[in-house]
Amino acid sequence: MKAARLPTRPFIALLAIATAMICFASSRALAEQDNSVTPRHPSLVRKAPPPKEIDWDKVTQEATNLLAKYIQINTSNPPGDELPAAKMLKDVFLENGIPATTWEPQPGRGIVAARLRGIGTHSKALILLSHMDVVPAVAKEWKVPPFSGLVKDGKVWGRGAIDDKGMGVMELMAMLAIKRAGILLNRDVLFVATGDEEAGGQNGAGWFVDHEHNVYADAGFLLNEGGGIRDLDNGKRFYAVSVTEKTPLWLRLTAQGPAGHPSTPPPDTAVTKLVRALDKVIAYQTPIRILGPVQDVYRTQAELEHGPKEYYNLDTSLKDPEFLKKFIEVPFQNAQIRDTITPTVLSGSPKTNMLTATAYAELDCRLLPGSDPQAFIKSLKQVIGDDSIKVEVLLNFSPVSSPSRSELMTAIETLARDTDKCPVAPLLLPGFTDCHFFRQKKIIAYGFMPVELAAPEAESIHGLNESIGVNELSEGIKRMVELLEIFGERS
Ligand SMILES: [Zn+2]
Repeated sequence: MKAARLPTRPFIALLAIATAMICFASSRALAEQDNSVTPRHPSLVRKAPPPKEIDWDKVTQEATNLLAKYIQINTSNPPGDELPAAKMLKDVFLENGIPATTWEPQPGRGIVAARLRGIGTHSKALILLSHMDVVPAVAKEWKVPPFSGLVKDGKVWGRGAIDDKGMGVMELMAMLAIKRAGILLNRDVLFVATGDEEAGGQNGAGWFVDHEHNVYADAGFLLNEGGGIRDLDNGKRFYAVSVTEKTPLWLRLTAQGPAGHPSTPPPDTAVTKLVRALDKVIAYQTPIRILGPVQDVYRTQAELEHGPKEYYNLDTSLKDPEFLKKFIEVPFQNAQIRDTITPTVLSGSPKTNMLTATAYAELDCRLLPGSDPQAFIKSLKQVIGDDSIKVEVLLNFSPVSSPSRSELMTAIETLARDTDKCPVAPLLLPGFTDCHFFRQKKIIAYGFMPVELAAPEAESIHGLNESIGVNELSEGIKRMVELLEIFGERS
């Protein structure tokens, strides 16, 4: 792989009076400031020893073993059952002298946090977030057992290898590598791995932000899944950093009609009314709206690939019906420029020869930041044109974005320039992650997994045969270490 990043950036710093960092597990320990480094008397000021070289082969081997072990803990959600995984990660931190603790927000559910202390300045702490739960996997559809954590053909295989246990391992190993090398950062790094992300996060990140504010009160920044390193066809690449996300608006449409025997059907039943409504819903074309980060990412791509020229100004280009047609044929592109409506759940009669009084469908709608959910529902009702169809909201939260400019973005840009010689573009994520819980608490949260995933790997997320290359895992940890050094450099 490219981009050797050794040796580590030289850090000269005041030496901490050698107060041994004792492993203790309580949220208080995670929250309180470490001021042991402040020298009481000038004569005690000395230079810190230079950091040790990081043995990357050892780090890679350890990361591979850890990811395999982590995958073997089945955290399929539902039910999640993340507690054993949380305890396993906590033990790894404690064995390495980093304070860590776990919570059990609901029986069997787990959260873990660990804090690598900085050296006494008061820069805002950085949270490295990941989630421990995974989507289910049907073993017979996979070519390797999904919870085996098999290491084969240069890859680690299993559900969660990328989403999101791989990310968690990169974050954890980066913290361990920095601690062991004796690299001193000017800000604390807080590892947080939650559960329940795949089901909306209420019993994970949602619970954590509401109940454990003291643990993250000093945090100003957060890195999470969401973006990544994009490779273009011409070999050029860029970092896509998610700064905003679409928000879910999950709706249930319910139709009523007479119950009875279908041998003498009435003109309208619950099912026929529902089907007519859905027919209109799926034909409905939502308006197109180009947001700043979306324009930016296409412009960056066009600059690197020298075209197509339409990407330089999407607002104008998408007015051309030919170009629009081609553009929205790609589902990811279509989702970036409009609200989407996807019927997912359908329920009618359980029996062929029975009319039920109720039929319902659920729609997974995803709204662009700035779209008003109430206005969206109003338009949808107009499209359906049948007041007897009831529309209920199952899930929705307000959109929250992070600014594209920040200290953390500058650090990511430095990383991109120094290690990969490439630009950074902000990204609008069509899905949603746990970032919104932290953005609501005014923390600048970005989605960026510092790896380039080959197409088969990227497609394995939530799909079959999920895997990550050992090389990618290793490069991800190196970039994460480098990023922490850049962002944690003493000013
Ligand atoms: Zn995920």
